[in-house]
Amino acid sequence: MTVSRDDLLKELGLWPLWRRRDGVVTAAAVDAVEHDNPPPVTQAVMAPAGAAIGPALLPAAAASVLPLDARIAEVAGMDWHQCRQSVAGCVACPLHAGREKTVFGVGDEKAEWMFVGEAPGADEDVKGEPFVGQAGRLLDNMLAAINLRRDRNVYIANVVKCRPPGNRNPEPLEVAQCEPYLHRQIELIRPKLIIALGKVAAVNLLKREASVSSMRGKVHAYRGTPMIVTYHPAYLLRSLPEKARAWEDLCFAVETMKALQSAAVAPT
Ligand code: URA
Repeated sequence: MTVSRDDLLKELGLWPLWRRRDGVVTAAAVDAVEHDNPPPVTQAVMAPAGAAIGPALLPAAAASVLPLDARIAEVAGMDWHQCRQSVAGCVACPLHAGREKTVFGVGDEKAEWMFVGEAPGADEDVKGEPFVGQAGRLLDNMLAAINLRRDRNVYIANVVKCRPPGNRNPEPLEVAQCEPYLHRQIELIRPKLIIALGKVAAVNLLKREASVSSMRGKVHAYRGTPMIVTYHPAYLLRSLPEKARAWEDLCFAVETMKALQSAAVAPT
């Protein structure tokens, strides 16, 4: 069965509200990417740089966990297989104790698009795959609305790979321990564009406290990779007005990607 774009937008509750605008992002605009310098941040969702592992944090597994600096260096040298294996056996933060499955990531390892969420929820914990619950269904429909699929030119991962209890936000030290894996995934994939889904993902990637509404509509940089911020699909399920804004963000992302693609092939 062929599903039309309008059918998808209706399914999302966005039709006829979601309309593409004509605004085109030029290569020059992408050149003017905001380079976000990571100043120290004190907000609860942020991971402190170089945070040490305290014995209270890792009661049973502390002996087998490297100091954070060594861990960062080790993960930075991993290939896909090593990285996947390391995540599957990770005991570097307390989240390992409550997990059913680790949620490494899914998609095309050579993708131009990378979508980053915050952490697995209950469905993801059972299945071991990101965004497979209700929010995941919406994310898949959002991808389809811009002609993308999770297994084709798209990679999806989270800031942390184990489910926080009760779906709370990940704690700073949990993020600090898990972030090297996301860094490595990004280095291995080398996406042209990262889409941060929601505040927790955006704030942890950009290392500065800000609201989603203030971060939207700009091209940020995550360690040199262009990054756009939009609302988390779980939030969109609860908030119709933000769905229209998320559609604007996706259109902005599509135009940004076009500019990045043409910049990549432009004669020098
Ligand atoms: N929310 C997220 O941020 N990630 C998932 O994988 C699922 C829900």
